[in-house]
Amino acid sequence: MEFLTIKEVVENMYSVVDYLEESCKRHKNKIAIVEEEQKITYHDFRHWSRTVGSSIGKSMQNEPVIVFMDKGIQALVSFFGTAYAGCFYSLINPELPESRIVQIKQTIQAKLVLTNEEYYEMATQYFKGLNIQKIEDFKDQAVDEEILKKCYQQHIDTDPLYVNFTSGSTGVPKGVVISHRSVIDFINVFTNLFHFHEKDIIANQAPFDFDVSVKDIFSSMAVGATLLIVPKRYFSNPSLLLDYLCEHKVTTLTWAVSALCLITTFHGLDYKVPKTVEKVLFSGEVMPMKHLSIWMEKLPQAMFVNVYGPTEITCNCLYHIIDRKRTYQEKIPVGKPFPNERVFLLDEENHLITEPNKNGEICVAGTALGLGYYQNWEQTNQHFMQSPLHQKYLEPIYRTGDLGYYNEDDDIVFMGRKDFQIKYLGHRIELEEIEKAMMDVKEVVRSCCVFDEEKAKLYGFYIGNISKKNLSVKLKEVLPVFMIPTKLIPLEEFPMTKNGKIDRKKLMEYKEEKHGEV
Ligand code: AMP
Repeated sequence: MEFLTIKEVVENMYSVVDYLEESCKRHKNKIAIVEEEQKITYHDFRHWSRTVGSSIGKSMQNEPVIVFMDKGIQALVSFFGTAYAGCFYSLINPELPESRIVQIKQTIQAKLVLTNEEYYEMATQYFKGLNIQKIEDFKDQAVDEEILKKCYQQHIDTDPLYVNFTSGSTGVPKGVVISHRSVIDFINVFTNLFHFHEKDIIANQAPFDFDVSVKDIFSSMAVGATLLIVPKRYFSNPSLLLDYLCEHKVTTLTWAVSALCLITTFHGLDYKVPKTVEKVLFSGEVMPMKHLSIWMEKLPQAMFVNVYGPTEITCNCLYHIIDRKRTYQEKIPVGKPFPNERVFLLDEENHLITEPNKNGEICVAGTALGLGYYQNWEQTNQHFMQSPLHQKYLEPIYRTGDLGYYNEDDDIVFMGRKDFQIKYLGHRIELEEIEKAMMDVKEVVRSCCVFDEEKAKLYGFYIGNISKKNLSVKLKEVLPVFMIPTKLIPLEEFPMTKNGKIDRKKLMEYKEEKHGEV
């Protein structure tokens, strides 16, 4: 006998597998996911995921599983298979440099790695001593209803669903842990608020180790839509990308600002307009009005939404639906909190800010909060803490490090960062992590990174007896490509401020003058 889902028992959901169970009942033979020439129905997707879950669930419960492959159907089977077993996944992108893969491996300490035919060899090199399984091998295995039932009953909704690694200021990536509860709460609100429906064709842009993809994956499964995975290579060729979106009659784009701007920068919408698009939700960075206007003009019927939030609070906590009648003289606001999220501003003395036009740090409370950073109590305690507004009961909050203010409409407007975190080519990067990687090179004695937001260029200044070329080679061994400075500039000495800190503003000027460059 098949197990009853919790939704059937108590009309509530405790696991994201309920999304797949429910959608499969309604849309058994519908295409759930499309990836290039491959398609999979809800029935087959569920079956494959359950074979994986049956196997993992035999010996593991609430433990991490590394998923080592590109984004695609197989990665999604791995995610859901892991969830069926009551375990949690962490996707490691095989394109990352070896040393970073090793850092993540050491933090996550998983026993099991799910990979595929393509990356099996590589996985055996990186994950020696771990149990490495090919996802294709589960396809013909049996589903063990008893095991799945046991896993499902032992699971509680606050158990982790995934660990997503982001850049860390100490030089080691931080693994943000997110529970089923947080994802379910967010996705239910998100899909209702923005009218996601079963006829949607959701075009996934974000890599699967980036939390924007969480919205694509679980929204699609929640409403029984079709998830179209857009291959990464299309994002370097706007006309191919637009052909693909049009051909597949895409209705929904939940994309990073940088991806939408890529199309407009290359005048892609003059070539072709994906007219079937009904809603465009963008996040990750401030959306330049110039680019948004072009999109809005070409898609006059579509809804556009600015959504905001860091990975630590499960996708997004603020949103603002663009009002076509408004001119947006000031920045587009990040808006108001999603239902069931508490978002507020604190000043430097930890007092609540309620009046307009006063800057404060954006803080968040509620079930959306992540479970901290995996095996990293120092960073967890620094960012997740008891609300400083009262000491009456436990109310953990997350301090985003972002600054904002209320405008006259009571909407929050994003103002920038308190620290050295930046967004570059859509990626969240702590400049200190690059500086640390530079300092780890034997010949480098000092390093400092600055980011020119306007030109979207990253500059790495250093003092040391090493050529730019050799330093670049060394950095490529440890950092992902997007973290390599656009320009490395050797200096004799660093400019200093009056209080003895590196003068970053002066460095910005140096990059213009190519000061000291060799
Ligand atoms: P990530 O964890 O990669 O999603 O990055 C989160 C950070 O990106 C936030 O803390 C903000 O600094 C920035 N961010 C996210 N959404 C927006 C937005 N809509 N507007 C401006 N900045 C954003």
